[in-house]
Amino acid sequence: MSKCVKTIPLSQVERISVAFAGGRSLAQVKAARGCDCIINGGLYDFGSGKPVSHLKVAGTVCAKEAWGAWGYAWNTGPDISMVPIPHEAAGKANYITCVPLLTPWDGIGAKLSYPAELGGKRGRTAMALTEDSLILYCSGDGTADRKTPEELRAELYALGAVTALMLDSGGSSQCDLGEGAVINSSRRVNNYICVWLKHNEKEDKPMDTKIACLDPGHGPDTVNGSPDGSYKEREFAWDMYTRVRPLLEARGVKVIVTRTENTKPSLTDRAKVSNDAGADLFVSLHTNAFGSGGWDAASGLLIYTSMAGDSAGRNKAAKAILARMEAAGVGLHSAGLAHNIEYTVLAKTNAPAVLIEYGFHTNKADVAILKDSAYRDKLARATAAGICDYLGVAWEDGTEPEKPQEAPWYAEAVAWAVAHGITADGSRPEDPATRAEVCQMLYNALKGRI
Ligand SMILES: [Zn+2]
Repeated sequence: MSKCVKTIPLSQVERISVAFAGGRSLAQVKAARGCDCIINGGLYDFGSGKPVSHLKVAGTVCAKEAWGAWGYAWNTGPDISMVPIPHEAAGKANYITCVPLLTPWDGIGAKLSYPAELGGKRGRTAMALTEDSLILYCSGDGTADRKTPEELRAELYALGAVTALMLDSGGSSQCDLGEGAVINSSRRVNNYICVWLKHNEKEDKPMDTKIACLDPGHGPDTVNGSPDGSYKEREFAWDMYTRVRPLLEARGVKVIVTRTENTKPSLTDRAKVSNDAGADLFVSLHTNAFGSGGWDAASGLLIYTSMAGDSAGRNKAAKAILARMEAAGVGLHSAGLAHNIEYTVLAKTNAPAVLIEYGFHTNKADVAILKDSAYRDKLARATAAGICDYLGVAWEDGTEPEKPQEAPWYAEAVAWAVAHGITADGSRPEDPATRAEVCQMLYNALKGRI
């Protein structure tokens, strides 16, 4: 894995603390502290091993500089904010500073100031705050995700960061953000940032009940659709939700939904619905678009997750759904799996999250099948089966109530014949009749009249 990013709502942060490494590896410190997430901390002197910027840990000032700088200060963790350090952090038990990327004074357009040796494209570690969340960021040195400090700032800004602090860079970049989001480094750094998450079990949730959060994409005023206007993405998304939901509920999965048919909540609010409910999986339902407004050749189903990583829950879920899609004969767009950390609903959900683009509404053949009810049923069944596979819920075909069968064309006549004693019970209605049976029926109907 070359990049790991985790956005944690501050309401879900239990505690943040700085842990001195004392020669231990990141994995050793994580195991010893029992934290959920860990990244390497601020700059330190490679020779002496001492931190080279302001650092206060659990009430003790561990490093002090002549200069002041913007940094993060906090007492327990959820109260974390960026303030001038050390002047305005005296009352805080902890603070850390390094290279500020975004501050209350200097936004995305400001010139960054850092020592030349910290420039260039390197692996990077950073902490950032959005309006209501903590972002932990780590990219591996020497990977395709290495960035300049300016590029890192732009990426964090795109994720919604209002303040951001670059931590130690280059070969020291390392993390374990949970769910297999791990970047290793052999470098034993001075200190690590540890984050514990709240693990609040919902009281109304029996131990073995799984919760799936379905997110029908977009809403009433969304114009996304086919070039000929015959298909609207928002209608498809809502319809797909109404098909998937009963399939999951029939198998005991609790389903929550991010919106009603006539509302269009923000992406952040959609993630919040999932987070508040403690969902086990978040699935966003969409169709895709490509090209410049007309029909285009791009086609097929594509699932997005925020980041790669085979062992991460989001990718296990995506692969479970893809396996069911392939088994159902659904055409995929290239390998069927792609990653985009800038999709808010994928970045801000605590649960593993996937976004399914069921096909391209800019492709003529895709639109034709996406409009077809039987094809939608096939997609819904594969989606629900994949969700169950991931959640460890048994999937058996036919568990859900059968759809009421449409009455055959002769049903009324058979019922009439039975009611009038012309035929005995109406059984085997499509079998051929013998001459004797025809005579018996005529006899039953006409005896005494002719
Ligand atoms: Zn969409």
